[in-house]
Amino acid sequence: MSPGHLTHVPDQRFDEFLLAAGALTPERPAVVEYAEGTVRTTTFRELQDSAARYAAELDRYGLDIGDRVMIVSDMSAQAVALLLACAARGLPFVPVSPEAPPERRATIAELAEPALCLTAASCDATAAPGATPVGQGSFGPEGIRVPHPPVPGARRRRALAPTDTAYIIFTSGTTGRPKGVVMSHRAVVSFYRGMLAERIVGADDRVASTSPLQFDFSLLDLGLALGSGAALVPVPRPLLRWPTRFLKVLRATGATQVNGVPSIWRQVLRHVPEQLAELPDLRGVLFCGEEFPTSELRHLQRLRPRMRLVNCYGATESMAASFADVPRPLPEETRRLPIGQGHTGAELLLVGEDGTVIEEAGTVGEMYLRSPALFSGYWADPGASAAALVPDPVEPRSGQRVFRTGDLACRGDDGELYFCGRNDSQVQIRGNRVELNEVQRRLLEFPGVTEAAALVVESPGQEPELAAFVVFDEEARPADESDVVAFCLRSMPAYMAPSLMRVTDALPVNQHGKTDHRKLVASLASA
Ligand code: ADP
Repeated sequence: MSPGHLTHVPDQRFDEFLLAAGALTPERPAVVEYAEGTVRTTTFRELQDSAARYAAELDRYGLDIGDRVMIVSDMSAQAVALLLACAARGLPFVPVSPEAPPERRATIAELAEPALCLTAASCDATAAPGATPVGQGSFGPEGIRVPHPPVPGARRRRALAPTDTAYIIFTSGTTGRPKGVVMSHRAVVSFYRGMLAERIVGADDRVASTSPLQFDFSLLDLGLALGSGAALVPVPRPLLRWPTRFLKVLRATGATQVNGVPSIWRQVLRHVPEQLAELPDLRGVLFCGEEFPTSELRHLQRLRPRMRLVNCYGATESMAASFADVPRPLPEETRRLPIGQGHTGAELLLVGEDGTVIEEAGTVGEMYLRSPALFSGYWADPGASAAALVPDPVEPRSGQRVFRTGDLACRGDDGELYFCGRNDSQVQIRGNRVELNEVQRRLLEFPGVTEAAALVVESPGQEPELAAFVVFDEEARPADESDVVAFCLRSMPAYMAPSLMRVTDALPVNQHGKTDHRKLVASLASA
């Protein structure tokens, strides 16, 4: 049965949806794990059984629908079973990565006020979020152990509604506090259905997931795999830093599809491209989270010319918004990748500064997302929720809300949208408006530059300065830094040319694998 047949099933819960395709093929692998040279397979039947066992264990703690369960874990078969169990009982899960610094884990616990916090038994004990007034315990093959059970409160709810919360993901907030994106069962399931209609994988695929559990990209991977009746392959995160070992996991597990941020490919392309070219099973790559530098994409295509590359654009507020195939091969003159127009069942609108919808090609506007897969709001933040979930600009009288993404795009002559950066990456340099993205693009045009970042450095009492970081191809002779500045000055006004320019070996990445701007700024301070 193809995933398309499932689209008519109304209002499944998160767990019901994820287990539906595999219920027809219970002996097929649902999760394929790799640890220390061995591969372990969990079938759909086993996954369903351990989810049911966890759900029964959760029943001991007198939790009510809506009570949060914080889960500190990497992606694993056990973690998936626990997510499914929480969803089955109407307990919103709050995934937190053991990689997150202790202070951040504590802040999330403080904000989310979970009734229960469960840490994977495989994590070291210091991964637990510390002293918070909640039930604390662990989960693993031995079941759920809660030495400090929560104190049951009065029950307020009787039945789970599809609009109830499935999970809360805490992302970085502009205020400096993590922002909790609240997703309902209905929203996440309608996203999954829209994604599956894109037919990215089939039941025979094995989908490698490389993102930390607290990044909703990992939940996208889960939906893509299980929703298709395919297997999920969690790649142990520490191995991503070692290109040979990363590829070894893909080879050993028979991964046919790899999902992740663009930076997971950087070391592989640099150090072991021939090993990537030789992988026997890999058919597709889906990337998301930031733009994939086109020079690296071309390299990937040269190594595996028949591989399907999908650019997935979106934000946590709707898990993702669109999927677009990268042209095969990517034409030499292409500088920007299409991001599509919204996945099946959703639509990306382009809105001008005057609030009207832009139809014509070439005009930059902000993207607004109309979708049944939108988040409910930001946890405990009605102000930020109202600023992001705004009246439909096409028909404001309808009362319908759409998501204001804060991302800019323009429409190409082909009707596709092309990402043009964040509206808040627009900065003022000596009174002039500068799009950091534009500077970054220019830097990437310099011969031999493979990665680049432009950012603003602000020091008290001083004018903001434009800083740039560039990484050169190993073969390209690192140019004098001033050559790159001169190159910028050739096509841009002086205020757009970086006054601080650094050639570096690699751009640092944050926990999610995106370029870490804070680290770059810090590196300037320490230089
Ligand atoms: P995600 O989980 O999709 O990365 P985040 O909420 O962490 O979502 O970040 C969302 C932002 O990341 C988007 O608003 C956009 O600026 C950027 N982004 C996501 N996907 C892409 C993409 N394919 N191309 C360019 N930028 C992207």
